[in-house]
Amino acid sequence: MKDLKFYYKKAIKKGFAIGAFNFSNLEVLKAIANSAEKLKSPVILAVSESALRYMGEQFVIENVKIIKENHTVPLFLHLDHGKSFEICKKAIDLGFDSVMIDASAMPFDENVKLTKQVCDYAHEKGVYVEGELGQIIGVEDNTHSDTNIFTDPEQAQKFVKETKVDSLAVAIGTSHGAYKYKGESRLRFDILQEIEKKLPNFPLVLHGASSVNSDTIAMINNYGGKIEGASGVSEELTRMAIKMHNIVKINIDTDLRMAFTAGVRKSLVENPENFDTRNYLLEGQIMVEKLVEHKIDVLLDSEKKA
Ligand SMILES: [Zn+2]
Repeated sequence: MKDLKFYYKKAIKKGFAIGAFNFSNLEVLKAIANSAEKLKSPVILAVSESALRYMGEQFVIENVKIIKENHTVPLFLHLDHGKSFEICKKAIDLGFDSVMIDASAMPFDENVKLTKQVCDYAHEKGVYVEGELGQIIGVEDNTHSDTNIFTDPEQAQKFVKETKVDSLAVAIGTSHGAYKYKGESRLRFDILQEIEKKLPNFPLVLHGASSVNSDTIAMINNYGGKIEGASGVSEELTRMAIKMHNIVKINIDTDLRMAFTAGVRKSLVENPENFDTRNYLLEGQIMVEKLVEHKIDVLLDSEKKA
């Protein structure tokens, strides 16, 4: 099977991106894999530290193994926002295809040191490493930042050179969670351009890129939910980042959670007599399938170009 690096290189050349979709239960995992298979697109199955704890390591490893065996498209298991050497080492030893070491809250020198330590261990085992420089505002699982610190292009060059990291998550105005902007979304393409000048043809990653679809929010609220003031990054902006820049991986979590919640809520409200858990979880799964298909087809372009 072709590895992630192959797809990252191709993505830079052809202007598409690979979707990194987060899952924390079986239904969402199946939804991501089904949609990838249907559209013949490679995808990254992303698990955060807390999702790994929630599902249990063995559940994740065994289910992903079975799903990989039963699908023909490349599916890559990735640790999202690993905060320590220990958790990254654990994921590597468990057989993950790639890990993210997120030491972005640390001072630059400490971020370099920890990222390099993970890279040294991972590369020996053929596992890819994503680092992060700058701080992405918002809350997502165990990742939390009150401030937005844009990635410094000068530092990015030094960081990659010293750590030998394989890809870099950059902070250019996206944010974690469902409440990204007051008013219109904006991204700092000028900073992205400066980073690319310093790091030509280097794979860059965009976190916190959910678009937080207003129809999905309306569906949640119509069926008894209460989500107010949520907003995301417009898909137009993310498409620009993918097409015109070296963004090769887009992280999407919030949109999947919203879609799943909308499906479950609708099913429960419309079928009040039902207590078969499979019925409403399946409605959530179907909503996630539609969403992932949309993202692959309209946003990422990974089915035609990969
Ligand atoms: Zn993230």
